[in-house]
Amino acid sequence: MQLNCNFLPQDDGRCGWYETLPTPPASIPLKGEVRADWVVLGAGLAGLAAARRLAELQPDAVIALLDARRVGFGAAGRNSGFMIDLPHDLTSHDYTGDRTADRQQIRLNRAAIDYMRGIVKRQGIDCDWREQGKLHGAIEARGERALETFAKGLSGLDEPYRLLDAGEMKAVTGTDCYRSGLHAPGTVLVQPAALVRGLGATLPENVLLYEDTPVRKIEVGKPHTLVTDQGRVHAPRLVLANNAYAAQFGELGLKGRILPVYTYGSLTRPLAPQQVAELGGEQSWGLIPADPMGTTVRRMGSGRICIRNSFTYNPRLTAGASRLARARAAHRRSFERRFPMLPGVELEYTWGGALCVSRNGGTPFGELAAGVFSAVCQNGLGLARGTISGKLIAEYALGMESELLDIMLNLPQPVANPPEPLLGMGIRSTLAWKEWQAGTEL
Ligand SMILES: Cc1cc2nc3c(=O)[nH]c(=O)nc-3n(C[C@H](O)[C@H](O)[C@H](O)COP(=O)(O)OP(=O)(O)OC[C@H]3O[C@@H](n4cnc5c(N)ncnc54)[C@H](O)[C@@H]3O)c2cc1C
Repeated sequence: MQLNCNFLPQDDGRCGWYETLPTPPASIPLKGEVRADWVVLGAGLAGLAAARRLAELQPDAVIALLDARRVGFGAAGRNSGFMIDLPHDLTSHDYTGDRTADRQQIRLNRAAIDYMRGIVKRQGIDCDWREQGKLHGAIEARGERALETFAKGLSGLDEPYRLLDAGEMKAVTGTDCYRSGLHAPGTVLVQPAALVRGLGATLPENVLLYEDTPVRKIEVGKPHTLVTDQGRVHAPRLVLANNAYAAQFGELGLKGRILPVYTYGSLTRPLAPQQVAELGGEQSWGLIPADPMGTTVRRMGSGRICIRNSFTYNPRLTAGASRLARARAAHRRSFERRFPMLPGVELEYTWGGALCVSRNGGTPFGELAAGVFSAVCQNGLGLARGTISGKLIAEYALGMESELLDIMLNLPQPVANPPEPLLGMGIRSTLAWKEWQAGTEL
């Protein structure tokens, strides 16, 4: 079986998280013929966790980890940095769903946070790791209704939270645009590009990290062979951790079941001291919109503000200049609505990044073909879910058993999508309708 990688990771704007880090040391691309015991495709959250876990469990094995770009350049370094412990169903009205499924999701997410916390502390990764929870903010009546249902869902799960009125929201965020809010304590906030770069820089010695190494073709066999521009790697076992880019692998049944959906972020310049004083509020907080289609906002200790919103269906896995310009304009509007006291603050960076979702929230976790393991499709919750998928796929591939693995293996498979052009029309109209409904929560 041959898998072609026709769509490779593109630039998709300039990501502020990545651009504000120091230039990394030169990369080591794959050259010539390399033989390994394992090859992991994709050095995002799932790939980094899978490679690390394999190396921990098999210290004598050689693990090749390949990425088309630098570590931290892809979606793993482009996200808003919320490592979320709670249910986060983006297709729902309020993030929650079936109670048993929600409890299982919480167990997986917390296991991911525990694993990541251990690595960050042990390795001293400097990624602004903050265990300060997340705010949910509602701007209008629809958002308030979503917030109420979310609060009820959390009560049903016996999860702690605190409701905030408009005054309390202003005291934290500095803006009076939020009518009400909710604080849930378990989420960790990070600088995502710093986190993944730190993970890449502290991999065990038996992981060979090859960056700037786009894989063009995969020959599934004994061994599997991954063909790159300057070489090839052969390994009997392959872990797919290329998330949205796996949506092109029809041969493995992924095409037509998992979907690349883009979302977009912008980062402002650091606020001047006078602007900090005019804004008021706390120096670091992270806010999720009450309506999943609304706007995520983070204020960093560095004085910058990050805005994320807009979803688009990009089957060719790239966001062109016009899409980025539309997202930037939407970010500008959202920024001005929330921070009228900060006129003229420039959005210094704007970028897009690929999520991988399935219509039913299912995941193709497991062994897809002999010796081909999948840790793709995080359904938008990659910091926690990508990490635990990567860790657990390594354990599964080595024949281990655990309750967490049982949860992962029993999650539903992604349902089949209707064929194009119906699929594209359906997704685009659903996204447009939901964004329209989100109203000023955007
Ligand atoms: C703007 C934005 C905000 C977000 N906010 C959050 C958030 O706050 N919290 C959260 O949990 N999630 C968030 N997400 C989602 C999160 O970033 C993703 O779910 C996560 O990155 C998925 O991790 P992953 O390791 O599975 O895949 P990715 O991070 O996408 O990693 C896949 C890797 O595969 C590599 N690759 C692909 N094809 C090839 C090839 N042919 N050859 C070599 N390498 C290849 C890519 O370069 C990439 O590095 C956000 C995403 C975006 C874009």
